[in-house]
This record gives sequence, structure tokens and C-alpha cells, in this order.
Amino acid sequence: MHETRFMMGTLVDFTIYGANTKNASIAIKAAADEMQRIENLFTIYGDQKNSVKMFNGAKAGSDIKLPDEVDKLLGRSTEIKEKSSGAFNPALGSLNMLWGFSQSTPPTSPPPAEEIEQIVSSLSHCLQQRGNGWSRTENSCQLDFGAIAKGYALEQGMKTLKSHGIKHAIINAGGDIRISGSHGERPWQIGIRHPRQPGQVIATLKITGDKSMVTSGDYERFYIYKGKRYHHILDPRLGMPATRSQSATVIADDATTADGWSTALFVMGEDGLEIIGMMGMDAILVDANGKIHTTKNIESRLQLSLSPPMLRTSD
Ligand code: AMP
Ligand code: MG
Repeated sequence: MHETRFMMGTLVDFTIYGANTKNASIAIKAAADEMQRIENLFTIYGDQKNSVKMFNGAKAGSDIKLPDEVDKLLGRSTEIKEKSSGAFNPALGSLNMLWGFSQSTPPTSPPPAEEIEQIVSSLSHCLQQRGNGWSRTENSCQLDFGAIAKGYALEQGMKTLKSHGIKHAIINAGGDIRISGSHGERPWQIGIRHPRQPGQVIATLKITGDKSMVTSGDYERFYIYKGKRYHHILDPRLGMPATRSQSATVIADDATTADGWSTALFVMGEDGLEIIGMMGMDAILVDANGKIHTTKNIESRLQLSLSPPMLRTSD
């Protein structure tokens, strides 16, 4: 059973194996509704009101209690920010708006350096957890869950399928994947996109059970200005698009973690592989020169096969 919906700015494919069609169809509808609910809860775009937009519009300095789910995801985001030494930062909303990659008409040239500098100067410490709420020190400090909310939606989508008795499923949101169970006797087989050659894969993975694989890439939203690529994954410490990677793929047990860390790893580049490995996750990084690096001994945990022309440079 297979169904596709448009959500979170991408096509989301639901594939269910080994369940009757009627039950699978009910489960997919419930999962899609749940994922849409999460998109509405976290999005900073469109006209619909939500607590994230209210927080971003509230007076700087006031303590604001966020709904439980938002509070929790912000807590997890802050933890990734700390562990990644600021490579990930959920408060970079203004910087993202300034660069304009999430707007419907994408920009064609970078913003002025002074405006970037002004936001970056407070970004590393502008968000504080106080009592049972959160507070911003500057108006330019704006929450942006763009790097992690899709993963959370995938996670909740799979939870909903399971609550309807589904055991074997895959939810694919534009290449970001959450799987459960297996494809009959076989594992699920998924490909990692080549960052420079559309339609080609750099590797395939065979996985079963509860796993997620999420990729952050510089090919998703970008423009070329004076021969240089400017894209939507920003280094919050510099205020500029991160330059160490072409794509970063993280495989974790849950999609929220995989999504958050794929963005963090993209910014950190090869240096981030060690911490990913230490936390028990796996990753495949294509560096700025197009070379592949992975976490240590990845093959002992995953059935990974690199496509023949891709050369591995380190392990
Ligand atoms: P992803 O495609 O999951 O890597 O997420 C990219 C989106 O996350 C961007 O469109 C921004 O909304 C936001 N973002 C960009 N850079 C960062 C960063 N370093 N830390 C946190 N969020 C980011
Ligand atoms: Mg991400």
C-alpha cells in the first residue's frame, strides 16, 4: 500500500507492507493529519497563528511559557546546540530571514555584511531558559525549527501508524526517512542522493527495525552569485552558509535526532563525525571536495554499499 501527500514543503510518501488495505489507509490518514498538526505547530511561515510565532513577536526580555511539545523540542534543540559547539542553533530565525532562503521568491545575492554581523553578535547566547519558560535578550533572536521539525513530524507520523497496528512501514519526506519493520523477507533499501548529480545515489543502505535516515544538503535551496554557491544551511557562528560539506546524512533510532544532527554535522563537516559516533549514531558525510567520510566501522552496524565511483577517504 502506497500513498503520497504534499506537506512540509515536500512530497511525503507512505509505504505500508503486510497490512490490509482498509486499515493501512486509515492509518496513513491519521499519520498525515498528525504530521500536518506538527507542521502547523512549528512553522514560522504563513498566516496561521502558533506559539512559535507569538514567541518571536513578544517583547524581548519577557519569560514565555511554551506549550509542552514546543518546549521539549526547543530543549532538544538547545542540547544539540551545546553538543555541536553552536554549529546548530534554533534561534537563527532572523539570520535565515535575512538570507531569504525560505521565502517564496529566493534571493539572488547575499545580504549586507553589517546586517549579518549585527545578528551574529548576540546569536550564541540570546536565548535563555528561565524558570519554566524561555526568554530572548534581543528582538533579532527568533526561533526557527526548520532544521528539526520535519524529523519530529516523521517520528510522530510513525508513532501514529504504529498506534493503528502497523508494523512494517516507511515514511519518506523528500529523502528524509523513518522506517519500521521490514519489507517482507527483505530489509528496506534506501539510497543517499548524490549532492552534485541529480538522479544518482552515492550509497545504498539496507535497514530493518526502528531507524531514521536524514540528509542535509547544499543542493536543496541555493543560488550561485559571482561563481560561489550560497545555500540555506547557515553557520550560526559566522552568519554565512556553511562551507565544509556538500551533504551530511545521519542514521539514528529516531527521526528528530537524525534531522537535528544532520544539520549540525553539515555545519561541522568531517570533524563532527567523532561526536556522532560517540553518541551511537552513524553518518555519511560528503565534504566540500566531494569526498566521502563515514563514522568508524559503519559496516559492522549497517549494510552500506557505496556506489562504485565514490571513493572513501577515511573511516
Ligand atoms: P535541514 O534541511 O534539516 O538541514 O534544515 C535547514 C533549515 O534549518 C533551514 O532552512 C533553516 O530554517 C534552518 N537552519 C539553517 N541552518 C541552521 C543551523 N545551523 N542550525 C539550526 N537551524 C538551521
Ligand atoms: Mg535537519
